[in-house]
Amino acid sequence: MAGRIKPDDVALVKERTSIEDVVREHVTLRRAGPGSLKGLCPFHDEKTPSFTVRPAFGTWHCFGCDEGGDVLAFVQKVEHLSFAESVERLAGRAGVELHYEEGGGPRGGEDGLGRRARLVEAHRASAEFYHQVLLDAGHAEARAGRDFLRARGFDSSAAATFGIGYAPRSGEALAGYLTSRGFAAAELVTAGLVALGRRGPYDRFRGRLLWPIRDITGDTVGFGARRLFDDDRIEAKYLNTSETPIYRKTSVLYGLDLAKRAIASQRQVVIVEGYTDVMACHLAGVTTAVATCGTAFGVDHIKTLRRILRDEAGGTPARTVFTFDGDAAGQKAAMRAFEEDQRWASQSYVAVADAGLDPCELRQRSGDEAVRGLIADAVPMFEFAVRTTLARFDLATAEGRVQAMRAVAPMVAAIRDQALRPEYTRTVAGWLGVEVSQVAAEVQRAPRGSNGPRRRAARVDTEITAPERDSAARTGLPSPNLRNPVVDLERQFLQVLVQHPASVPVEAVRLLDRAAFTEPVHQRVFEAAVSAWKALGGAQPGAGVSAAAWVDAVVTEAAAGDYDLGPVVVQIVSEQLKAVAAPGEGLDPRFVSSVVNGLREVRLVRQIAEATSALQRMELADPEQARTMSIELTARQRELAELRAEGFA
Ligand code: ZN
Repeated sequence: MAGRIKPDDVALVKERTSIEDVVREHVTLRRAGPGSLKGLCPFHDEKTPSFTVRPAFGTWHCFGCDEGGDVLAFVQKVEHLSFAESVERLAGRAGVELHYEEGGGPRGGEDGLGRRARLVEAHRASAEFYHQVLLDAGHAEARAGRDFLRARGFDSSAAATFGIGYAPRSGEALAGYLTSRGFAAAELVTAGLVALGRRGPYDRFRGRLLWPIRDITGDTVGFGARRLFDDDRIEAKYLNTSETPIYRKTSVLYGLDLAKRAIASQRQVVIVEGYTDVMACHLAGVTTAVATCGTAFGVDHIKTLRRILRDEAGGTPARTVFTFDGDAAGQKAAMRAFEEDQRWASQSYVAVADAGLDPCELRQRSGDEAVRGLIADAVPMFEFAVRTTLARFDLATAEGRVQAMRAVAPMVAAIRDQALRPEYTRTVAGWLGVEVSQVAAEVQRAPRGSNGPRRRAARVDTEITAPERDSAARTGLPSPNLRNPVVDLERQFLQVLVQHPASVPVEAVRLLDRAAFTEPVHQRVFEAAVSAWKALGGAQPGAGVSAAAWVDAVVTEAAAGDYDLGPVVVQIVSEQLKAVAAPGEGLDPRFVSSVVNGLREVRLVRQIAEATSALQRMELADPEQARTMSIELTARQRELAELRAEGFA
């Protein structure tokens, strides 16, 4: 397992990264008031911009879908990366060397990040080399590769999009090229690009057409290689990079770097069998297609996809379409996928073209439209699996029907959603031509599989929750009702405290406590800000640190409590103050004192009301106690009178 990245390094990466630059790669931003930028949210559909970036605070927040956070949260969400991957991604561009806490190196490697970067660089250089060879019209051998592509309907622009290359037969071309670029033989062996023979290093791929396999971020981490020549001593039609520190065939999905956005926005993923099928689908407009690389679709692939689909959680369940050859092997793959499907929350479909054509062949024969139609007409996995099983029996005989019924009953029994079982029981009875009660009885008797309980546990894990409208709503605490003027006043104070801490009189912060806020969310945010102030030291909240560091500290404190209120703090950072000022510039002191005094007044009025009613009860029960309370009440009333006399503009 990879060790955690040291927190100091994470902080350094954030400090050296301009959130504005990073966001601008994905969103067109316009100035919207001092210190504030706005654009159309990349995470939900909208016509008017509600996606707000505040560069000085290092935060972004969307007032439409209530997503928000720091630059790492943005990269995670927009690129569908894990936290560690986002840090590594930004560290690369900021030139920060990462250190990992005890227990391992970066993901997939044992050494420092340096090694991963070297292996990725070696792959980038190789992909470029192979692609240039393929394009080189003077390279006679490479013609076989070009012909292969042309015969399947792929032109040079398709080859460029997918970075396809040709590996010369000589066996030393790549090794020589990379060595001349300063790579050591040992590195290239580790990368799986070169092997060591008796006469020195030789190329792993020879005389083959190559597809660079890119990870989700677009880094090339391996190759898939297609046999082209009859005298190729390696019989296998396809060769893939073997396991390396950066290439894990059980989790990598070919085409994911190109498909991830479409998968998230369309809530659909199409699993095809080969590199050419991915190409054919994308070129035909099915931009959600990916393929496994020389291995069956498995649990790790599901994990990768689940992250993308969960990111864009919505009301409708995600749709997974498997395309399989119509032959026996393809059907077996479908059956296996059906088993896997029980672990995952999306609805699965199977698309099988007439005559068992794969998407690439279908596109050549019938065009782009046919490929889109194939995916659109996919049938539910359950129907496909049951019909495939039924086809093995002679349903014309009573005995055949009984055997078929016994074969499919466990499949009905395995359906996770119990509410759907009666419906499927009826459907199966219809296909079999038997009484519904007969099938129902058989389903009752059928074994449910040994992994029943695990299946239920997995379901909880995969459940996709609908997004909430408000950051606070997600915390489990009631959302503050900002239409209430008292609550709005509380909010304004918190906006000032988080966005302009230097403008808040220290006295004011000392005079206030949890009880000054009516909303539980506001109470906790206030306490988080006070804790952050104490943690950072300084005479004044936010003193001695940058605006971004102050916000970061408040977010950290707010996230540490029993409810994660980090997103609420980010939202408050992004809210427009009623008195406009740029971050770092002082606010009009009259505005600040009006808010602070307003808050104090509301609180005093509330305390006086409470004390008055308590006093009335106490006068009968405990006159001595009542006298003390009365003195306190008088003090509060005087305080209120003074506050009102001072006036607040
Ligand atoms: Zn949004």
